[in-house]
Amino acid sequence: MRSHNFAAGPGALPEVVLAATAEAIRELPGTGQSLLGMSHRSGWFQGVVEEAENHFRALLALPPDYHILFLQGGSTLQFAQIALTLLRRDGPAADYLHTGYWSGKSLPEARAVGPVRVPWSGAGGGFRRLPRDDELVLAADAPYFHYVSNETVEGLQFHRLIGRGDVRRVCDMSSDFLSRPVDVSQFGLIYAHAQKNLGPAGVTVVVVRDDIVRSVPAGLPSMLDYRSHVQARSALNTPPVFAIYVTMLVARWLRHEIGGIAQMARINEAKATRLYQALDASGGFYRGRAAVADRSLMNIVFNLPTPDLEARFLRASETRGFYGLEGHRSLGGVRASLYNAVTLESVDALVEFMREFQASAREDTP
Ligand code: PMP
Repeated sequence: MRSHNFAAGPGALPEVVLAATAEAIRELPGTGQSLLGMSHRSGWFQGVVEEAENHFRALLALPPDYHILFLQGGSTLQFAQIALTLLRRDGPAADYLHTGYWSGKSLPEARAVGPVRVPWSGAGGGFRRLPRDDELVLAADAPYFHYVSNETVEGLQFHRLIGRGDVRRVCDMSSDFLSRPVDVSQFGLIYAHAQKNLGPAGVTVVVVRDDIVRSVPAGLPSMLDYRSHVQARSALNTPPVFAIYVTMLVARWLRHEIGGIAQMARINEAKATRLYQALDASGGFYRGRAAVADRSLMNIVFNLPTPDLEARFLRASETRGFYGLEGHRSLGGVRASLYNAVTLESVDALVEFMREFQASAREDTP
């Protein structure tokens, strides 16, 4: 049996999608070809992009003035491409929140392009909480406001909309996109690589409002120009056919088998609640890292009383069939990622294992 996948990304994919993908690699129904050998210029692939786009539009109830792009270069390239589109070297600074590891990674990429202001940073507090509204003093003249909705490494998630109504919101939703409802009309641009909730690594979904596409400055290389990707319908050069196909299957699953994002959010809440309850009921044996109000429903980051117990916990978890529980290399500890495709049954199995491990650790203590 495949082990329970709690990895932070690439992460779990729905069983039905894995089965359909395995079949498609052998032979795509109706084409006589393997998925891996299909031309990106075929009518078949155009149909895949169209279907994927339709599912995203339906799932997000997308207003008509938004484009959906399937791009390469990961979220890291978006850090730069967004700045290249909206930031001017001699213009006002963009506002960037520094709430953890990944928002920290976006800063130098934007600074390479133009001025950046950081109105709030959690670095001094070790990124254990997110800012309150009264701590967010954002500039009215910023060309945009950038933040990360879910900090994958520290397990911090915004549970509310932040920012100003008169400044474009640009949001990295790499680790919580499609896990809960989002009012896209409040954002100028949303980006999320696929390898958490959307599909396999290799494709990044960008939802971008038309006024941003129209404001791309002249002279950008075409791969960095949203306009050329819109015109080419995500096939400016050879796109990652495999990754886009599997992403389409995941979107189809989310829409037709789960029943949409609101339903997905209910399931995700139930999963996270079970795991957080287990932490809270452990009498301090499992210690959540993030402030309770800001803790993530996607990445549950916690520590055990000692590094030695953490190492034993991780070793034991692997033998018991749990994959990917080690914390990010920058932080250590334990991280359980509960992306859309992680089942409630997997979470229950993990909670049970955690109880047993705690009991056995107590017996070992002289
Ligand atoms: N943003 C967030 C929130 C992430 O979690 C990650 C990677 N896990 C990235 C950006 C970087 O993504 P990529 O590897 O696709 O460039």
